[in-house]
Amino acid sequence: MHISDFVHALPKAELHVHLVGAASLDTVLALARHHPDGPVPTDEAALRKFYEFRNFRHFINQYGVVNDLVTTGEDVRTLVVGYARDAARTNIRYAELTISATSHLRAGIAPDELVEALAAGREEALAVHGVALQWIFDIPGIWDRDWGMTSARFAADHRPEGLVGFGLGGFESDSPRAKFREAFAVARDAGLHMVPHAGETTPPSEIWAALHDLRAERIGHGVSSVQDPDLLRHLADEGVAVEVCPTSNIRTGAVKSFDEHHLPRLVEAGVPVTISTDDPGMFHTDLDREYLLCHERFGFSRDELAGLARAGVRASFAPAELKDQLLKEIDAL
Ligand SMILES: [Zn+2]
Repeated sequence: MHISDFVHALPKAELHVHLVGAASLDTVLALARHHPDGPVPTDEAALRKFYEFRNFRHFINQYGVVNDLVTTGEDVRTLVVGYARDAARTNIRYAELTISATSHLRAGIAPDELVEALAAGREEALAVHGVALQWIFDIPGIWDRDWGMTSARFAADHRPEGLVGFGLGGFESDSPRAKFREAFAVARDAGLHMVPHAGETTPPSEIWAALHDLRAERIGHGVSSVQDPDLLRHLADEGVAVEVCPTSNIRTGAVKSFDEHHLPRLVEAGVPVTISTDDPGMFHTDLDREYLLCHERFGFSRDELAGLARAGVRASFAPAELKDQLLKEIDAL
């Protein structure tokens, strides 16, 4: 079997992917056509141009413009089902999709409409595309403490079926993790798992803060942990998984080049490393490609790639039967 066929055949769990950033051109086009008078082009060639990012700031800006289009339940369903369709193409069987729910509420969608749309999208994702979805609601990092609290309360009060985790995304440098300690406590009391981003562009101290202040159970990115041997040991000993998104790190400039990427060192240190795409639509990648990169850039063998797939399943909050099933299928390859 060719390596790309092997990678494709691995049943995969994706743990770090954002609803709006995941949207492929087709999906954004469908979304834009729901809002023909909006700022996002409804014509494919123009949309392609709109999606050519000049730099990270431009990327964040375009992300915001697309995000603001999401104002109806139909928009949310379009994004969810679009992700599932694209995910199925790379044999993703289970995903935890991050939704910045409060940002959609701020853009005008009603809370009940959002919850119903997630339920409908989730059902269709499984029935039509064979992808089991669960949700992580997150706080965009640039928000203040009060909006963080609003996000946590919304998650706790409306808790849609399939909501398993609470996260913290976006820019890290101006947003100390500890700022959202109270919000995370509210989400934790509601029974959600704690999965903030940390150490994408910030030093290991912020990963420690995510662990201590937010009681992180997994770390989004976490790549700067290699700078702190004690932290590496802690993550390995406690089995705290990191969600590494290689192409995203290069596209955002968080890591300068694949040669400087520390993914292999994390694996060597015994940290559970999972692989994700982060924003596959916007970064022009998919999960097969990310696994293949690990082979091409880091020299990972088939066994090591299977190990990454197993780590993704184990670190997920999927139901036990689904985890067993996926692990069995990986072992059988
Ligand atoms: Zn992310």
